[in-house]
Amino acid sequence: MTERNVTIKKLVIGHKAPIRIESMLKESLSSYDRVLEQCQALQKAGCELVRVAFPHKDLKTELSRLNSDIDIPLMADIHFDPDLAIEAMDAGCPAIRINPGNMPLHKLQKLIHIASERSVVIRIGANSGSINGRQLAQSHGDKACALVLAVEEQLQLLLKENFNRIILSAKSTSVKETVRANKILSERYPDFPLHIGITEAGPGLTGLVRSASGIALMLAQGIGDTLRVSLTSDPVKEVEAGYEILRSLELREHGFHLISCPTCGRRRIDVASIVERIKPYLKDVPDGLTVAVMGCEVNGPREAKNADIGFAGSPAGMVVFTKGHIIGECSIDEIPEKIALLVDMLRKERNSNNKE
Ligand code: SF4
Repeated sequence: MTERNVTIKKLVIGHKAPIRIESMLKESLSSYDRVLEQCQALQKAGCELVRVAFPHKDLKTELSRLNSDIDIPLMADIHFDPDLAIEAMDAGCPAIRINPGNMPLHKLQKLIHIASERSVVIRIGANSGSINGRQLAQSHGDKACALVLAVEEQLQLLLKENFNRIILSAKSTSVKETVRANKILSERYPDFPLHIGITEAGPGLTGLVRSASGIALMLAQGIGDTLRVSLTSDPVKEVEAGYEILRSLELREHGFHLISCPTCGRRRIDVASIVERIKPYLKDVPDGLTVAVMGCEVNGPREAKNADIGFAGSPAGMVVFTKGHIIGECSIDEIPEKIALLVDMLRKERNSNNKE
């Protein structure tokens, strides 16, 4: 468990703060309108920190504009050039991600001095592609230990300059290596928040499952303060997946929880198509509530007895249930109307409970 936190703009990461959800822009700053649109979509989805590649100082005007146009804090991603990191801070970025090991010491010192003055947070870290032969040899070929060593070397460079507004990260394409490296880091350096994720997790279902497995294994051990589910797709999906992981582990409420049964020979409805059909009507469901769509009225309400709003197939169409109790019937076409009524009822219930 992390013992200290850092603050990026108003976003607290680490000790006692909720686990944060990050993503990275997939458009170049040179296509400003597309970048802004992607940022706004991420904000709407609940993204709390956005990383943005800043590969060239010619893009400083766009970076500066983006910092003023959006509310989510931006973390500029710099590879080698310390001058670019300074330009990013000049453009208003409250956080930067750098590899201090790649930078000449005098330039790194200047960068750290500016970051200290402006309370900028620096994320450092390594991934499996960036560890070198010496680090691997020193770690006797153990890639998780080599990752830790790479992070430690970067950390020492910042600590020598008395800088401690740091987030650490160690990522590998291997779930097992990533989990082990982060476990070591969290035990050795509880003072620094950890950014977690699986790098280059892969496309589609593979990427989702690999990311979720690795991230959940770490979170379940209390490791990780901020996460990114790296997917080869729309970054909004990364945010949705991140919240889904946190909801599944009961670590954070964000939006409602939609559950459905896998169906079996008892099903009376096409559960998958009904789920898709009702999704647009669920946008007003309050945070933390569970909505269930189940295949049959015999087992559905019981199997989903924790659902606040439930629908299960029945001979006459659907039964409506809440907390395991059937409270009425409806046709498939009447589901949106029922959802609106139940949401209203549950909101009133919540409000009166809050007043008591
Ligand atoms: S709710 Fe009914 S249809 Fe769905 S899995 Fe259970 S028994 Fe089968």
